[in-house]
Amino acid sequence: MPTIYNFNPGPAQLPHEIMLQAQAELLDWQGTGVSILEISHRSTRFMAMAAQAEQDLRELLNIAADYQVLFLAGGASHQFAMIPMNLLRGKTTADYIETGIFSHRAAVEAKPYCTVNIAASGAASDFTTIPALATWQLNPAAAYVHYTANETIAGLEFPWIPETGNVPLVSDMTSNLLSMPLDVSRFGLIYASAQKNIGPSGLTVVIVRNDLVGDALPLTPSLYNYKVQADNNSLYNTPPTFAWYMAGLMFAWLKKQGGLEVMTERNRNKADKLYRFIDQSDFYFNKIDPVYRSRMNVSFTLANAELETLFLIKAAEVGLVGLKGHRVVGGLRASIYNAMPEAGVDALIAFMTEFESKM
Ligand SMILES: *Cc1c(COP(=O)(O)O)cnc(C)c1O
Repeated sequence: MPTIYNFNPGPAQLPHEIMLQAQAELLDWQGTGVSILEISHRSTRFMAMAAQAEQDLRELLNIAADYQVLFLAGGASHQFAMIPMNLLRGKTTADYIETGIFSHRAAVEAKPYCTVNIAASGAASDFTTIPALATWQLNPAAAYVHYTANETIAGLEFPWIPETGNVPLVSDMTSNLLSMPLDVSRFGLIYASAQKNIGPSGLTVVIVRNDLVGDALPLTPSLYNYKVQADNNSLYNTPPTFAWYMAGLMFAWLKKQGGLEVMTERNRNKADKLYRFIDQSDFYFNKIDPVYRSRMNVSFTLANAELETLFLIKAAEVGLVGLKGHRVVGGLRASIYNAMPEAGVDALIAFMTEFESKM
């Protein structure tokens, strides 16, 4: 068996060390004789683990005390609806920046609750670039401005944080949160479902400024109400306990690596290497504007699209899995989140070089 490098976009590869730790303590967690899978979310031990996970995340991102950190059940897609439910606060319109499939879905999901203003769209460029901030038609009366920091499907990432004045900035950071240090104080709300760069699916981390919490629409279900979740330390009902535990292991792992400065450098190196290789080849092609290429999801096509199936088969034979592009857009994609070691990218480049030479 070759070493497996898993390039799946999500659920995605997790660091080998934390997988081994989870395996080692699966049947007997902290000497309790029972599994983390079998323990009450209201037990002292679980609550201590949950508090530590929050503490570690706050440290990693330097999150100030005036922000709530919520660990919620469900995916980023739940937040697409929860955001307007909670953040309209008497306003009737919200701005959305459309840069690809996930930002589009977020905007569609907000429509039952408010007037959605697409303040900028990358549609004219077929979502290969991001419209300059100066061209955005931001509405000063908007309740918030929503954008997707990394479009996972195309591999398009904001290298800057939009300036939106007094209007709270909301960001879907599902596929790039924790890949680099972040000035959380620039945001009203940040959300990320876990299965890309944090842990297993079923969990979404929401970081929200206190002043935005507490004025949800009247029909908002309790579980969708940030205030209810915040008042109950995200334990209003049974949370996804195992995913929360794994996220905690991931946060501790990141601290052990040296924090997010270290990760940003590693991630930059990995992505630069892969794009450099793609760019020098006439056989592989990436269509994203180089300024906005994602460090997390590297999409590419082959000059001859008919070879894609063979590429995937041959790659899998040498242990490189999960390279198929999203079903909506096709092509190929290597997702290289925090857990992907540089050796994985090296192995991918070696394989791509050999595949090209044989065709
Ligand atoms: C995967 C992803 C989503 C959807 O997440 P779910 O947890 O499946 O709802 C939304 N936004 C981005 C940026 C994503 O990468």
